Amino acid sequence: MTEPADSCPCCSGKAYNKCCGPFLAGSATPRTVKQLMRSRYTAFALGGHGDYLLESWHVSARQGLSAASLAARSTRWTGLKILKFEQQADRGMVEFAASFSDKDGSEQVHHEESLFVRENGKWFYLRAAE
Ligand SMILES: [Zn+2]
Repeated sequence: MTEPADSCPCCSGKAYNKCCGPFLAGSATPRTVKQLMRSRYTAFALGGHGDYLLESWHVSARQGLSAASLAARSTRWTGLKILKFEQQADRGMVEFAASFSDKDGSEQVHHEESLFVRENGKWFYLRAAE
């Protein structure tokens, strides 16, 4: 498991241990959909955080997922931009653009509006909006 010493992979400009690090380590819980979105991106970017990804996935949408497969670093993620976010009561949305290098090394962008729900005070990723 890689532990970046300086800037967080989620491109917040903050140090990893002041940004997504505590969430991935389990010593803090994301309080906003933006924090959860960033930490999930960082978990994918670093690899080795399958448990975190699985546990922050809403139980209704976990079918076919496993911590082992989520821990695999199959994509080289190179950057994250949060374009928009909304939070209302226990529902949230984050629109983002995540860049990655494909296997030929050319830069691609994954654009998504992610939907989140909060249960018992904890945010979960539900699915991408249609
Ligand atoms: Zn971060």
